[in-house]
Amino acid sequence: MKKIAVFPGSFDPFTIGHEGIVRRSLVLFDEIIIAVGANALKKSYYSLEVRKEMITKVFRDVPAIRVDHYEGLTVDYCKRNSARYILRGLRTSADFEFERAIAQVNKALATDIESVFLLTVPEHTSINSTIVRDIIRSGGDASMFVPSVINLEEYKGEGEL
Ligand code: ADP
Repeated sequence: MKKIAVFPGSFDPFTIGHEGIVRRSLVLFDEIIIAVGANALKKSYYSLEVRKEMITKVFRDVPAIRVDHYEGLTVDYCKRNSARYILRGLRTSADFEFERAIAQVNKALATDIESVFLLTVPEHTSINSTIVRDIIRSGGDASMFVPSVINLEEYKGEGEL
């Protein structure tokens, strides 16, 4: 059976930390679906379309990676896509505590789906989308924190303040 993993997240925006996790997990899975959570209650900086477009650019040449979005429960999205794995990245012990609760609840909701965690490389530990957004909002240069094919200049004015 094909091993399909869903990498769910806000990706607002997608960073080199996210990219690292996805690229390293390519050896573990046959297909990875990067699924942008479309949460009506959680306001995002970049629109869903922009976030998906940025991620699509990064993995344009990788056939095993698909970019999509979803609403509702992650486990329901996994089931609809025959994915038996949820991929997440861990940076700190705070991430671990947060992820532990989500993964244990997901396990209770769907016993046949496993959460898989990859520890980030040390140089990506301090990178998070919130800080990257703050730099962009304040007119700084955040290009070193996002994959090089994403030209942030191109998306200037796209962000919600
Ligand atoms: P969410 O709102 O679901 O937490 P994020 O886009 O912030 O979405 O993160 C998606 C996943 O990527 C999470 O598992 C998060 O821990 C992981 N992640 C975020 N930044 C990094 C990073 N710098 N290195 C490794 N993993 C990361």
